[in-house]
Amino acid sequence: MAGGIFRPNSQPQPVGLHDGCAYNGPMTPPRLMPLTAAGILITNWCPARCRHCYVCSGPERGEWMTAEAAAGHLAALARLGVPAGGIHIGGGEPFGNVERLLAIVRAARDAGLEGVGYVETNGFWATSEAVVRRRLSELRRAGMRQLAISADPYHQEFVPPHRVSLLYEVARDVLGPDGVRARRWRWLQGPEDVAAMTEDERRGVFADFLGRYPERMTGRAAACLAPLANRTPIDDLPDDPCREALLESRHVHVDPEGWVYPGTCAGIVFGRATAATPLDAVLAAWRPAASPLIARLVSGGPKRLVPAAAQHGFRPDSGGYAGKCHLCWSVRRRLVEAGAGGDELKPEPLYAAS
Ligand code: SF4
Ligand code: SF4
Repeated sequence: MAGGIFRPNSQPQPVGLHDGCAYNGPMTPPRLMPLTAAGILITNWCPARCRHCYVCSGPERGEWMTAEAAAGHLAALARLGVPAGGIHIGGGEPFGNVERLLAIVRAARDAGLEGVGYVETNGFWATSEAVVRRRLSELRRAGMRQLAISADPYHQEFVPPHRVSLLYEVARDVLGPDGVRARRWRWLQGPEDVAAMTEDERRGVFADFLGRYPERMTGRAAACLAPLANRTPIDDLPDDPCREALLESRHVHVDPEGWVYPGTCAGIVFGRATAATPLDAVLAAWRPAASPLIARLVSGGPKRLVPAAAQHGFRPDSGGYAGKCHLCWSVRRRLVEAGAGGDELKPEPLYAAS
């Protein structure tokens, strides 16, 4: 295990490990709640580069999970008792390699699960009705219960609206109305061609959409959408703990290289699931005392990271932040850039991507 800023062997050590974290008192230490859901992110490749993407996927990123590794994660989820309906396959864009996607969905049944809850897609591949019918029929036979279609202004900057509309119509026919889910339903009823807009028009659409559907300002959203959102000075940001997001969401994601992160807090990891240390072993072994950065977030949110990060060059933005997750990402990114992310801020390329 490499040292991070809060580890005893790290240099410098601006804040001690036991300076008031919630678990360092007589109270019961925080613990990770049992999982009821998980996302297997099989790639970070994507033909799109959505401005809200919290895993910073794009055409230049090329990590893919092997079918064998995915089978290992699915077997671990089966051992943990996670129901099939709580498991989804995403990315990046999992339809970038349909054969591998099919193999991974089939692996769920081999692992003893009753298929997978849903597979996410932006619909870029929906070039004809025949293609959509064939692929969705294969996936349904393999064990996919639902297709989850991602459609909103950010996606439609890259995916032509007629493709996502075709996918929606054909998917409802092949899988039935209950076999399709969408984010965002209302937009999907009449998606606009955001690529055809001017940049000023796009920014207006994004700002309006953000007002109705707030995004977590981490990953690419921190750079591309936070400038469009209302900002709050750092001192006025909430001090509320991130216990629920980190430990009580009962939901993890596993990235293409096996990094396991809580809920949607991409870049904060419990560990790395491998053949030798499968996902259930990673979660069983996790202790707050061994993850001091996470423990600080659990006890007091990202403002608790700021004093130590300042010693690694972090300076609060005088323009404020678009919420505490924006501050969290900014602090974490600085720590990783300074080589002080330790074992808890991974993978490093995520922080370097944009
Ligand atoms: S949000 Fe989805 S479709 Fe958009 S870049 Fe990220 S993975 Fe690709
Ligand atoms: S502030 Fe950080 S740890 Fe807390 S919910 Fe946001 S991204 Fe997750």
